[in-house]
Amino acid sequence: MAKMKACRDCHFLTNESQCPNCKGTNLSTSYTGIVVILPARDPLEDPRKTSYVASRLNIDKPGKYALKVR
Ligand SMILES: [Zn+2]
Repeated sequence: MAKMKACRDCHFLTNESQCPNCKGTNLSTSYTGIVVILPARDPLEDPRKTSYVASRLNIDKPGKYALKVR
């Protein structure tokens, strides 16, 4: 499996050449740490309300994110 790329803007991890989360193309293969934000029981619920990690990283959608992007 190829290493996923991390979006420099929202830290979303993807195999595409464009970030599916914010539509940005500023992707990096140089990142450390992966964070998985699981969906809440209510899929529309903001993960920042229930997850410390999501609120610290300002993640508003469940998914896989890089902890640190260079
Ligand atoms: Zn993004």
